[in-house]
Amino acid sequence: MIRCEATIDSDVKFANTNDGQPYPEIKEWGHKWEKPVLTYKLHNLSPDIEKAEHQTRAITVAFRVWQLRIKNLRFRRIYDDTEPDLDIWWKPLSDFSSPGVLAHATYPGQSHFYIEINDEWDWVSHTAISDIGHPPLVPVMIHEIGHILGLVHDTEDKVSIMYPSFNLGKKKNDLGIRDIIRIQFIYGVRNISQRLIDYFRRRRDAGWDFD
Ligand SMILES: [Zn+2]
Repeated sequence: MIRCEATIDSDVKFANTNDGQPYPEIKEWGHKWEKPVLTYKLHNLSPDIEKAEHQTRAITVAFRVWQLRIKNLRFRRIYDDTEPDLDIWWKPLSDFSSPGVLAHATYPGQSHFYIEINDEWDWVSHTAISDIGHPPLVPVMIHEIGHILGLVHDTEDKVSIMYPSFNLGKKKNDLGIRDIIRIQFIYGVRNISQRLIDYFRRRRDAGWDFD
């Protein structure tokens, strides 16, 4: 079983109440991004994925999955020396609590925002070429971005992208209905055609973003 471990500062608290939340059984995080644009930067590259642009594209593709659903927050990649809101790093095994952890992330409202990806694994960019020994970056990044946006794990629904573990060798390229309802509760509903959403999912499933 492959896990994600979200990191929580000791001085930050969960929401005091789940009143009005769409899923009362989930104890939601009490903070969200209040600004209209979240900026991010990929600081280094993994030797696993030969083409550098495939690494950054996997992150772009993962952000787009959330972007298609929400209204009140947008994402922008930073290329220059400007300080981003979110740092994304490949890290060695020593930065993780166990070899079984694929990646981890922080939550909004904390002092530092990062996603760290465990480079001990031999990664590939997307699910069309992944297998049991090669985790795909796109779905793992979709999950970690969910934490960055403020979603905690959904331990009830295995279809949810926020389910805490990931079955290697299986395709998981989209949000579950519970993920969608939870993120739209926080950042509003983007009205967009289902055809467009389906088109981008087909692209992810087939790996067309990486041709
Ligand atoms: Zn997680």
